[in-house]
Amino acid sequence: MRVKGPTVRKYLKKYIAAPEHRIRLKDFNSDDVLHDSMIVKNGEDIKDTLENLLAKDRTALARAQELLAASRKHSILIVLQGMDTAGKDGTIQHVMSGLNPQGCEVHSFKVPTSEDHAHDFLWRYEKVLPERGMIGIFNRSYYEDVLVVHVHPDRIEDLPESIGPNTKGFWEGRYRDINAFEKHLVRNGTVILKIFLHISRDEQKRRLLARLENEEKYWKFSYSDIAERQYWGEYIAAYEEMLSATSTEYAPWFIVPADHKWMARTVVAELITSAIEGLRLSYPKFSPDQIQHFTAAKETLEKE
Ligand code: ADP
Repeated sequence: MRVKGPTVRKYLKKYIAAPEHRIRLKDFNSDDVLHDSMIVKNGEDIKDTLENLLAKDRTALARAQELLAASRKHSILIVLQGMDTAGKDGTIQHVMSGLNPQGCEVHSFKVPTSEDHAHDFLWRYEKVLPERGMIGIFNRSYYEDVLVVHVHPDRIEDLPESIGPNTKGFWEGRYRDINAFEKHLVRNGTVILKIFLHISRDEQKRRLLARLENEEKYWKFSYSDIAERQYWGEYIAAYEEMLSATSTEYAPWFIVPADHKWMARTVVAELITSAIEGLRLSYPKFSPDQIQHFTAAKETLEKE
């Protein structure tokens, strides 16, 4: 059986990290836009215009989600990754505004606990996978286990020397584990959408400064973001290696331009909608017997 990847609209295909290719992030524009109106110029507030553009998207997304829930055949797993300030939280907030919260779960993964570290690295993610009919959003994911800990090997769980990160082929092994895990999920009805929110280093600087220039944004600021920024080059290298090794036909990575927040949000909403629509789902069919029961129930109610 061929395990198929998500179906997406034609114009979104250019954001796919081609499987079995060496991926270089500089080949993908982080400031790409679909429409010039998506560029917020000099503080000019065009949010309303964009809101109108996105209202259409939201309706389509809500309809797609209802079909997903009604048919209960597939689940959607959205894996969201990106450098600090790439806009993961804002994108989730935006996408959620078009979804029925009862059919969607968001999981944010922070530094693993000692219980997490006492298990294999996929354990904590596997426990919270979406059931059929549901959409699961992972805000960070098992990809952190080949990213942050690749850049900072001292943060990895305490593994025996003989199987630890200093052994030959350790990271390749993790990529293979991830690919096998995802293939298993896809074969069992999960559609996986892996989204890398791609921002430039300059854009990150602007966003960090914006947090420091406005007291109401102080709460978003974290010193660790500045510390991690010093490792920008190492993170790019870790991302490129990971994207090259784990973008597959059945679970490709989408490298979404995220320097313009509204662009990223639109693309993500469209990716989810088209992936669900591509499943060609239909509302459940009922037998003549069942339909008779519904008719009888209707009559009972009407007689009240
Ligand atoms: P966020 O930046 O996602 O809004 P936090 O500021 O709490 O949330 O950051 C979460 C932290 O958890 C990040 O520094 C990230 O690198 C770290 N983290 C997530 N998953 C792992 C993991 N598997 N191993 C080590 N650190 C992780």
